[in-house]
Amino acid sequence: MLPAVYLAAATATARRLVEPVLAVVFPSQCPACGRLLAHPGRGPLCDPCWDALPRHRAAACRCGLPLLRPQAACGRCRRGRQPFAAGASLGPYEGPLRVAIHELKYRGRRRVAARLAQLLLEDASARTLVATSDLLVPVPLHPRRLRERGFNQAALLARELARRAGPRVCDDALVRRCDTAPQAGLSAAARRRNVREAFAVRRRALVDGRVVTLVDDVMTTGATAFACARVLREAGATEVRMLSLARVV
Ligand SMILES: [Zn+2]
Ligand SMILES: [Zn+2]
Repeated sequence: MLPAVYLAAATATARRLVEPVLAVVFPSQCPACGRLLAHPGRGPLCDPCWDALPRHRAAACRCGLPLLRPQAACGRCRRGRQPFAAGASLGPYEGPLRVAIHELKYRGRRRVAARLAQLLLEDASARTLVATSDLLVPVPLHPRRLRERGFNQAALLARELARRAGPRVCDDALVRRCDTAPQAGLSAAARRRNVREAFAVRRRALVDGRVVTLVDDVMTTGATAFACARVLREAGATEVRMLSLARVV
């Protein structure tokens, strides 16, 4: 059997030879800008779009929330009601970042997770956050969604981050109950209650006494992440942090 190093070199050479042919025979477009891809194997985005991923325009609070005006901390942190001791994200949920996340989630382009993890770790605060955590815990998908999609994008991302930066991943530290009501049609208060009751820690020993970083692809209102943080803290996590690819700001 060939040593892995030869195999990797042979694969890289084959890719270099095959890619220009593929680009001509099966031209594919960048889903973010429509340009033809010069390196389809490196997709799904074209190089200029990867280089132009949106970044947060404002400085972030220590919890990771980009601050809209110059201030020391966000309202939640100031009021002492912030479940996250630290947080970071790559950028706002827009432009090519949004498209890359869609390709990963809805078109099953799993390799995107590796590239996004790499980019996230190039951010100093995200890298420190991951490297000083004991455990990465992805936000679980609803079981029905997991069956439909076949994978949890947050778990893929957590594994790629851990492989590069060290901490362990526990894919199933959190469980999402199947019997919560659909969110549609519920009042805001009922939605919050619904989300609060949707998560549980599978076994306390998994997180007790650990510094845990919660990983998700997109943080929207934060309701899901806050609910996860709450049960992690209740199960004894010494600190909970939040890492996402994108944040809705
Ligand atoms: Zn593009
Ligand atoms: Zn804050």
